[in-house]
Amino acid sequence: MKHFSSCLLLFLALCLPVVAQQSSEVYAIKNVTVIPMNREVAMLHQTVLIEKGIITQIGNAETLEIGKKVTTIDGTGKYLMPGLFDMHAHFFYEQGNNINTCKEELQMMLANGLTTVRIECGDSVYLDARAKVKNKEWIGPQLYVVSPQFVGAWPWRGKVFAAVCDTPEKAEAAVKKYKSEGYDEIKITFMVKRDVYDAIIKTAKKEGIKVTGHVGPQVKLPAALAAGQQIEHMDEFIDMLLPDSTYNYGQSVSDMNIWRKNAWATVPFLDETKIPELVRKVKDAGIYVTPTNFFFFSSFGEGRTDEQYKQRPDYQYIPSNLKAERWDIRERYWNNAPPEESRKKYVYLRKKMTFELWNAGVPLMAGSDSPEWFLTQGFSIHDELETFVQAGLSPFGALQTATVNTAAYLGVSAKKGTVETGKQADLLLLDKNPLDDIRNSRSISGVWIAGKYIDRKGIDKMLAVAANVLGK
Ligand SMILES: [Zn+2]
Repeated sequence: MKHFSSCLLLFLALCLPVVAQQSSEVYAIKNVTVIPMNREVAMLHQTVLIEKGIITQIGNAETLEIGKKVTTIDGTGKYLMPGLFDMHAHFFYEQGNNINTCKEELQMMLANGLTTVRIECGDSVYLDARAKVKNKEWIGPQLYVVSPQFVGAWPWRGKVFAAVCDTPEKAEAAVKKYKSEGYDEIKITFMVKRDVYDAIIKTAKKEGIKVTGHVGPQVKLPAALAAGQQIEHMDEFIDMLLPDSTYNYGQSVSDMNIWRKNAWATVPFLDETKIPELVRKVKDAGIYVTPTNFFFFSSFGEGRTDEQYKQRPDYQYIPSNLKAERWDIRERYWNNAPPEESRKKYVYLRKKMTFELWNAGVPLMAGSDSPEWFLTQGFSIHDELETFVQAGLSPFGALQTATVNTAAYLGVSAKKGTVETGKQADLLLLDKNPLDDIRNSRSISGVWIAGKYIDRKGIDKMLAVAANVLGK
C-alpha cells in the first residue's frame, strides 16, 4: 500500500504540468532586502511590484501604488536578487545515446536560480528548445544557443555534434550557414588550424556574429586576443606563463593538452611573474572571459573521492546509462594522475589569474561547463560562484559574473542583470544573504521567470520530475 501510494503520488506529480503557483501575474514582494547588483548595497525593507513580468515599482510599502488584484509575498528576512546566468552549459542530448531530455534539464536550471543560459554547443534540437521556452510551451531560463562547435577533426563514432572544418573555405561556408539558421554565436572547440581560425573570425565579423570558445595550441592566445574572441576556460592563458625559451613548445596544460603527461611536465617551469603582462594583454583586448574553474579544479586539479561525487546533489540527475562512462573518464585521468605538486600549482595559478583579471577590470563570466563529468545543470553554477570567492573576489564580485557582466556581454543590460524598475522580473528570492557568504546563493526560496512565480514547493516538484526522468 505504501508502495502504491508513493507511486500514485509520483504519477500525479509527473502528470501535473509544472507551472507557476499563482496566476494573477501581479506580485508585491513585501518587506524584502533587495540586492540590486547595480551597486554593492543591500536595500532593507523594500516592497517590489511586478506586473506582467516587469519590475514596475520599488520602494516603501506605504508610498507605492498597489492595486487590488495582487499576489502578496512576504519577503521578511529574505533577499531579492537578479536571476543568475550560466554562460557555459550543455544538454545531455549530445552525450551517449542522444535522448532529448532538454525539457527536464531546463527545469533543473531554473530550480537552481538560472534565468538565462548560454548553451555552449549547437544543435537543431537546442534551437527547438530555445523556441519552446520563448513561446512559453516549456518553462525554463531564456536560452542563447551557440553554433555546432567548429573542430579540426571529430575522433568519435556516432552523431557528429560539430562542424568539422579543415579548410578556410569550409569554415567560411559553415559560419554563413549557422548565422542563417539562427544560432546566437559561433563556437570554436579544438584542433582548429590557424588558417581555418582566421577564416572563421573574418567571416563572423562580416556576418556580424560573435565568436566564443576554446583557444588551441595551433592558434595560441595572441591571435585569439587580436581577433577579439570571447575566451572560455582561460584556454592558452597558462601557456603565456611558460618561460620565453620554451614558449613555442606548444604543450602547456591548456585545452585538450590537460590530458597529456608531457604537458604536465611543463608546469614546474610556469612563471607566476608573467601574470601581470598576461592580464594587461587580455585587458587591452577588451574581451570577456569565462574561467569555468570548478570543472578544472574538481576534475583535473584536486580530484574528489567516489563518495564525494556520489554525495553531490548532482549525482542523482546523471542518467544512469552515462554514469559508467563518467567513472571511466575519471579513472583514465586519475589512474595515471600528474604529480600532486604540479596539480596544486595549476590550481593556484588558475586562481591567481582569475583574481588578477578581475582586479584589472577584465569582465569575467560564470560558466559551469555542466554536465561534464559529475556536474549537472543548475547545481554546478553555485560551485562556480564559490571558486570566484576562493580566488579572492568579494561575494559581490562573484555575483557580478553571473548577473551584470553577462547581461552586458549579451547586450541585454537594459532588460536583465539588475533589480531596478523597468527591468525584466527574472528574480531570485533567497533565505540568506549571498553578500555575507556566496554559498547562500543556494538558499533559494522562489524564482520569477517570464512573469511567473515558482515557490519552493514548485521548485521541489520540478526537481523531483527531473530526477525521475533523468536519473533512470
Ligand atoms: Zn563545454
